[in-house]
Amino acid sequence: VQIILRYTTSTVVPGGEGRAVAVRAGQRVQVVNTHGGQVADTWAIAQDDPTVHLSVAHSRVAIGAVSPRVGDELVDQLRQPILRIVGDSSGGRHDTLLPACDPARYRSLGVVGAHRNCQSNFIEATTALGVAPPFVPDPLNLFQDVQVTPSGSLDLRSSPALAGSAVEFEALRDLILVVSACPMTVIPISGEGSGPRDVEIRIAYTGAD
Ligand SMILES: [Zn+2]
Repeated sequence: VQIILRYTTSTVVPGGEGRAVAVRAGQRVQVVNTHGGQVADTWAIAQDDPTVHLSVAHSRVAIGAVSPRVGDELVDQLRQPILRIVGDSSGGRHDTLLPACDPARYRSLGVVGAHRNCQSNFIEATTALGVAPPFVPDPLNLFQDVQVTPSGSLDLRSSPALAGSAVEFEALRDLILVVSACPMTVIPISGEGSGPRDVEIRIAYTGAD
């Protein structure tokens, strides 16, 4: 009789902040929308070469869609598999079109002074692990509902993801997963009248790992 012990590690990503975790090839990792409605900018970079990253542009071609679905294999900028989506209880609204929010974005929206942003969150989180690449790739914006209208316009809607819903990935190589609980509140992509909320990264692994 084979007994498989399944452990889980949990990393809370505080609202408005970013965190990075190491994930080994074959492991399952979930991004959990703990309180619902929170957009989570997400990146994957290769452990053996942090300049190799999940590329949303190349992934759109690989999956033939602007929003990934269960079963889709996401690729890096060399078109090699890096992450597979194996589960999604969030309703499946995920954006691949928008870059991370950054200081210039907040200035253009009329914010005066410093504002937390996903670009800085990525740099802080990867620097903390000593794996910061010299650029910030475009993220996979989990739980972000961006609709492309028939005329080609973008419609930025509030995230419909419910509390406790999650996306589950299988790592297809050793990688670093980075998640930013997007601090954007000027545009209500994460809902009206609420600050950024925590999300959670859960890694499942067996006793054999
Ligand atoms: Zn953001």
